[in-house]
Amino acid sequence: MNLIQQFRDISEHPEIYVRGWKDKNHGRVVGYLCSYVPEELILAAGALGYRILGGGHAVSKADAHLQSYSCSLVRGALEDALSGRLDVVDGMVFPHTCDSIQRLSDIWRMCAPTGFHIDAVLPVCLTTESARDYMVNICRRLKTDLERHLKTVIDEERLKAAIETIDGIRIGMEKLYLLRCNHPEQIRGADFHAIVRASAIMDRRAFLNILNGLLADLEMAADVSQRPTVRRLLLSGGACTFPDVYEIIESAGGGVVWDDLCTGGRQWSGRIHAGDDLIAAIADRYMQRPVCPAKHAGLTCRGDELVRMAKETRSAGVIFLLLKFCDPHAFDYPYLKQRLDAAGIPSLRIELEDRLTAEGPLRTRCEAFIEML
Ligand code: SF4
Ligand code: SF4
Repeated sequence: MNLIQQFRDISEHPEIYVRGWKDKNHGRVVGYLCSYVPEELILAAGALGYRILGGGHAVSKADAHLQSYSCSLVRGALEDALSGRLDVVDGMVFPHTCDSIQRLSDIWRMCAPTGFHIDAVLPVCLTTESARDYMVNICRRLKTDLERHLKTVIDEERLKAAIETIDGIRIGMEKLYLLRCNHPEQIRGADFHAIVRASAIMDRRAFLNILNGLLADLEMAADVSQRPTVRRLLLSGGACTFPDVYEIIESAGGGVVWDDLCTGGRQWSGRIHAGDDLIAAIADRYMQRPVCPAKHAGLTCRGDELVRMAKETRSAGVIFLLLKFCDPHAFDYPYLKQRLDAAGIPSLRIELEDRLTAEGPLRTRCEAFIEML
């Protein structure tokens, strides 16, 4: 089967894949909503980490628990849980990140039938020595909680193997990002989206094998003599669950060359520098990865990072993809736009909710923006 088609099938129907994996392997599934959950510990515990992004279904049951002005990610995820679509999950890990996820955790614990429930209360400030010590302790506690709930032991050998696999994915994803940056026409945005989405659903070792095969094919097919003709664009924002947005950008003459998304670059960047203390090494990577607006690593770090990223990837402009009612990203937007303006980098803000609505106006805005670049 076409390698990319496998990723597409899984990203479109994650529940079918996860159920099949569970039946075949008699394995356990641990759900999570945020890229700050240390994947390595779930894998080392022998479970499948399943990132739940919600959406795709009408929301009715969740409305009894959440205000309609909550973001579509938390509403959609709760709807999935209350409708039985997550009955394949054996337990959930909720990290202490944005307010919506924290409050969702409280509601979820009381009414969602998804097995055990772990709150990982991560630090908000990520730059002090005490925050680092605290983060290491939280990772140790998460390890113990997972061992207890999954009735297993996470020993050094399993930790090392899990770190190797997850870091292998990070290395592979970095190569894929660089390939797309150099040859944006070679891989369609929707396909790239499917790969990233599948990376947080699939059996991670199987994913890594297929990713490496795909990279070999793409590297062989890359035409170095061809000069990219698309308008180079950088995406920034939270979780993106809209493959159609790529088609709209591409049909308007744009090409996404990099992203600063929570379902993308931020999820898979960085590396674990394993020393004697593997848990501390895992914690360090989560302290040092590109920060999201629900965490604090300095007043200007997100702006500095976005401008650096745009310049390094030779992006002609930045498109902000913001989920409606996502306060952390909405609060950061004015200052990020200001930083881009000061650096002479044009930007466009697109607000999305659950699924793409009013595609016509969105297409027109993208076309106008890309034409102006
Ligand atoms: S944007 Fe931040 S808080 Fe929100 S899901 Fe992503 S990592 Fe978590
Ligand atoms: S960061 Fe934004 S989109 Fe993500 S869960 Fe929180 S409020 Fe929702």
